[in-house]
Parts: sequence; C-alpha cells; structure tokens
Amino acid sequence: MTLPVRETYSYSVPDALRQAAGIGRRALVPFRSRNVIGYIIGIEKQPPEDIKGVKDILDILDGEPLFHEKSVSFFQWMADYYLFPIGLLIKSALPGGINKKVGPLKRICIRVKDDAAVKRILAGDKTKTGPKNEREFLELLFSSGMLPLNELSSRFSNGLYLVNKWTKAGAMERCSEVFFRDPSGELLASSSEPSMLFDQQTNALKSITGCLDKGTFSVCLLNGVTGSGKTEVYYRAVRHAIDQGRQAIIMVPEIALAMYAEGIFRPRLGERVAVFHSGLSDGERYDQWVRMARGGADLVIGARSALFSPFPRLGLIIVDEEYDPSYKQEESPRYQARDSAIVRGRMENALVILGAGTPSVQSFHNASKGRYRLITMPDRIEKRPLPEVSIVDMKDLKDTGRGEGILSPMLQNALKETLASGNQTILFLNRRGFSRVYLCRSCGASMKCPNCDVTLIYHIRENSLNCHYCDFHITPPDKCPSCKKGPMKAFGFGTQKLELELQRLVPEARIARMDRDSTRRKGEIFRLLKDFNDGKTDILVGTQMITKGYDFPNVTLVGVVSADLSLGFPDFRSGERTFQLLAQVAGRAGRGEQKGKVIIQTFNPLNYAITSARDHDFETFFNKEKELRGQLGYPPFSYLACLRFQGNDKAVTEAMARRMGSEIKKITAGWPKRGKEIQVLGPVESPMAKLKGKYRWQILIKSKGTSILHYLLKEVDALSREILKKSGVGMVIDVDPYQML
Ligand code: ADP
Ligand code: ZN
Repeated sequence: MTLPVRETYSYSVPDALRQAAGIGRRALVPFRSRNVIGYIIGIEKQPPEDIKGVKDILDILDGEPLFHEKSVSFFQWMADYYLFPIGLLIKSALPGGINKKVGPLKRICIRVKDDAAVKRILAGDKTKTGPKNEREFLELLFSSGMLPLNELSSRFSNGLYLVNKWTKAGAMERCSEVFFRDPSGELLASSSEPSMLFDQQTNALKSITGCLDKGTFSVCLLNGVTGSGKTEVYYRAVRHAIDQGRQAIIMVPEIALAMYAEGIFRPRLGERVAVFHSGLSDGERYDQWVRMARGGADLVIGARSALFSPFPRLGLIIVDEEYDPSYKQEESPRYQARDSAIVRGRMENALVILGAGTPSVQSFHNASKGRYRLITMPDRIEKRPLPEVSIVDMKDLKDTGRGEGILSPMLQNALKETLASGNQTILFLNRRGFSRVYLCRSCGASMKCPNCDVTLIYHIRENSLNCHYCDFHITPPDKCPSCKKGPMKAFGFGTQKLELELQRLVPEARIARMDRDSTRRKGEIFRLLKDFNDGKTDILVGTQMITKGYDFPNVTLVGVVSADLSLGFPDFRSGERTFQLLAQVAGRAGRGEQKGKVIIQTFNPLNYAITSARDHDFETFFNKEKELRGQLGYPPFSYLACLRFQGNDKAVTEAMARRMGSEIKKITAGWPKRGKEIQVLGPVESPMAKLKGKYRWQILIKSKGTSILHYLLKEVDALSREILKKSGVGMVIDVDPYQML
C-alpha cells in the first residue's frame, strides 16, 4: 500500500540491493510499524548528516524503471500545485495493473538455433523423406527467425511433431518471449494519407516544425474551425518529432475519440503507436506503459491519463479539443490535464500544441497576450462552407400534446428531408434518461434521491427512477408517497424519450442512441460509431459524447434539441460551455461534399452564446465573455480555489466550514498589503447540498495572483488538518475548479 503522506522520506540502500535500486522503481520499506510500498524519486550519493534514524530498504519491486528522472520533477510540481500527496499522485498516474501484479505475458517461441544446419537442410534433399509440409515449415521458420509455438501448431497440423524433431536434432530451440497485449483489434475509420496539404495546413505546419526544430519549450494554440483539417497537421507534427528521435503524446477528451484517432494514426505509424485510456483493461494498460518506458513506442494516444506517459525523450504534446471540461479530473487528484501538459512541456523542452475549433476563453486570452503562438486555420478544407444555422424559439411553439413539444416542425421536416435524401442526422440532447422529473399531479411533490440533493430521472427501459449522482434507484410508485393520493406523472424529456419519439415520427429510420446508459458494455461505443460511420444508422441521438471530433461526411443535419440545459448551470463558465457545445456539434454537419444544416431549439434565442454560435463568430463571443468575466473578476482575470467540506452530520459540517472560513479570513486579514488581493467567499451550503449521503458546504477563494493563492492554500491545508481532525468532516481543495455544484 502507498501512504497518503505529503513529506518524502529517506532510506538507505543495502549493498545487496544497490544494483536494483534506481529512480522510478518501487521499494518495500519499513514505515512506523508497517512495511509499505514507496517510489524511489531520488538517490543521494552522500549519506545525510543525520544518518541515525535512517532505515534500510527491504526490497526493490521492479526490475526496470516505471518512470524516468524527468518525470519526478513533474510529479513534484503536480503534488505541490494541486496540494496532493506525491505518493498517491504517482500511484494514480501509474497503470493499476502494476499493483495487481499482472505483468506482461510470456509465450513460448521456437527459434532457429543453428542457421548453417537449416541452410544445409534446405539446400539438400533431406526433406524429401519427411512429411510433405516439412520444407514449408523450415522455410517459414528460417525466414522469420522466430515464431510463437501456438502459431506453428495452428498452421501445421503436425507442427508439434516437427518442432520436436528439429529441436532434438539441435537445429532449433525453444525460448520464451515477452509479448504485449494488443488492445486494438479493429480500427474505427482508417484513412489514408492525403498526397498534399492545403495552404493553411502547410502554413500551420511550418510554424509548428519551426518550433520543434528549436528544441525548446513553447505553446502553440492551433485555432482551426471544425473541418479545417487539424488531424493531418497533428500527424505531420508527430512525424517531425519522431524524425527528430523524440516521442509524442496526443491527448483527446474522451475514450471514443482516442479509438477514433487510433484508426487514423495506427495504419500510418504501425507498431510504434501506444494507446492509454481507461477503456483498456489493467493488463493492457500495464503493457502499454512498460512498452513506453522502454522506448518501444513513439506516440501515445489517450485520454487525460496519457499525460503521464513515461517517454524517455518527450518532444511534443498535443492537447486536442483543449477547451473540453473533461480534461479536468473531478476526483482526486483533481488536476487539469491541459494546464499540466504545459508544465510538463516546459520541464522537458517540448512543444505543446493546444488544438481547438473553439478555443477556451483562457487559452485564447493567453494567445492574445502573446504567451502562446496563435496559429489560425479559418477555412474548412476545399473552402467548404460552414453549415447554415437556424434558431427555433421554443416559446413560440404551442404544445399540441403530440410529442410533447420535443421536436419543432422545422426540425421534424428537416429530419424527414434528410432521411429521404439518404443522408445522416445527429440529434444532440444533453440529458440522458427518459424524463426529467417525476411529479405528483395532485400535490406537486417530486421524487428525490434520499442521498443526493437532486430529483430522480425516469428510465423507461428498466422502468426505474435513477439518481444520476449515486447508484440509488427505485421502481416508480403508483401513488404519491407524500400525499398518498395523487397519481405520479413524468415531465420533461431525456435521450430515451427522444429516441422513442423519433421511432414514432420516422418509423422507417434506423435510429441509434449514444449516451452513458447505452454504452456501459465494453465495445459498445465502438460498435455505435462504426455502424454510423458505415452508414448503417440514419439518426444518431446522443449526449455531449457525440458532439466533437468525429468526421462523418454524410451528416448533413444536426439538431440541438435543447440548447438551454448548459446555460442554466450556476457556473461562470456556462456561457462558454454552451457556445462550445453548439459550435462543436454544429461542426459535425456538412463536412463532406454536401452542404450542412443546423437547427438549434432554445427558450433563450437572444443569448449571446447562442447567437454567436449561430454566426460562427468566436471573436464576438470571446469579447463579450471577456467583458463579463472582467466585471465579475473571474478567470482569466483571477485564480480560484474551491474548498469543499463534506460530512455525515449536517450541523457539524456547517460548523466546521464556518470555523475554517473565519480562520482563513483571519489569515488574510493579517497580510495588510497582499491580503487585499484575496477574496474569501462563503462559506455557503453547496448548490448540491447533499451528495451520496454527505452534507456539503463550500468556500470559494478568489485571488489576483497565483503564488499568493498557493501560499494561502498551504496554510489552509495545514490548518484543516488541525481543525478538522476527528470531526468527521473532510475537506477537499479543488485548485482551478470547473464544477462548483
Ligand atoms: P478538424 O479536426 O479540423 O475538424 P479533420 O482533421 O477531421 O478536421 O479534417 C476534415 C476532413 O478533411 C477529413 O475527412 C480529412 O480526411 C480531410 N482532409 C484533411 N486534410 C486533407 C488534405 N490535405 N487533403 C485531402 N483531404 C484532407
Ligand atoms: Zn443519489
């Protein structure tokens, strides 16, 4: 086990382990009264002055390093910045398989031992007396040098006999070879390399290779509209880094996009591509990790955890769709993979490319301040037009009862037309489940989760009311549990209901749904995307999982069923999030030769995020957003940290949050000058006051500078250990928070 301690400890290396000890290996060490596992992050040649209390390492657990010396300073930075114990950080960065001891598999192989002998046999006539296929067997082995035994025995019915015969004769021998599980079977959409680049791609690439050739750290923001051909630029940049003898990381925000990117890169780079994301089994992740640490791969494609890839000579990190909130890990350690990628790039003198069709406000702000080099690709390839976007004001629609106002007549007609013309449609609705609330028609009471401060969502397939935050679910009651009288009715709609409504509206269409519920089984995401890619599906319904990255040329219609869901979030980024979702999903339409069309349904047709998305106008959106953030003092004009308190007892949780709040205010009041740069907001009850059975309070800290904020957070961290000790209330520090619910 690894301990949650913040400090690092020194141990001495007994002579017997001197050879084995090295940075990046795990060591078994005595700690207090137990033996625990630690990671070696540094080796001192000189023993420390005070050597008395230093104990011996008991054992070294790895025969080769799991990470390199350069990664150590990166781990240290992360532990420090996100206030997280370094041992646990390293543990979470390493693939889970390591601790479960699922080492690489070994397999038995047969190899040629005596080259000359086999040559002689093949040259002579000796094989004529043996079995008919003996010559073929020998030739195959001779030309490949070594083959797995199971392959030989499946290829030759008498394979085992032949192997025995020739090993006895001394011409061949058995050996065992480590092999890596290959996680990727079929590829989603492999594409061939285009013979030439378009001008904007050539220009972008020129800037990028220029940076790579300098061999120093820098950041490029590649702002290319959807369909401008960024992938091809990434590919050439990766190849340039490989030609320099360095390695590259490509990060994408979702597992499905990693599979998609693999389909593009693997056919071109073959064996030298590794993949790393949570869609792989522990064993597969372990294999990929070891392969990278050994220098057996040039490129890794993965989700945010790929950031830690143990490449010995990292030269390039690409963060695709850099604006995506899923780069923020919402469980411990709470890190922002895009922001951390920039730090890792700096430490390794690597180039970092942030790619986006719609950059984040933060990255675009940094580029406009000259901190990042801005590279723009303003056109779709072949100057194909961006889709025409129409907004439907849902307030104008009368609820006719039929379909309960899910799809406006405009969207219905467009759907039918698209279907008739043989093209494909994407319908985006960012709410899964069947309906939103389950209400009593007599007293109006709704069904809520007993553990969380949210209403339960009806799921028709399982006929159950589910909580989307914990695993609570019940069968819907017939009568209201509150007034015991009224019948219950479902209101609102989610993806399941949309799917049903479509089946009624266009029964001839082949409809598929992609959301968290429909993709729980391994391989399901892949199958859904593959069918859509192969034209076996006409309409794909889904949550934000379907909005970004993909290139499906036959999609000519995109419908946004409700643009208001993300706008309603109590979060300063809700406008940005809405703009990005709309611009991204709109970017799926009309990527092929036919023009695309987008229909956005909303109750807020005049909102700037929605109108800017309609006009494909990032600049207007950015300027408006920047002005609002400036007025309210939100990032990028300040730095935030959210302190979250959680406890089983309501009153104690509140009391502890209040106590911490007043202590923190005392600290900043004691800093006469710089204290004014910091605002301590709260404590307040969290918008989601109860989650998974725990009561929640929070404090938001806003600061003008990042170093003063971190100085304060360290004090807060130490303070909390003192004040909250044995109170049953825990505190989590969320640095640069994305979710403040
Ligand atoms: P983006 O990631 O910027 O949205 P993609 O990289 O998916 O765009 O490119 C859009 C489409 O253009 C893809 O189908 C891709 O194969 C094609 N494409 C990109 N570059 C070229 C090129 N140089 N020649 C021909 N087709 C290209
Ligand atoms: Zn719940």
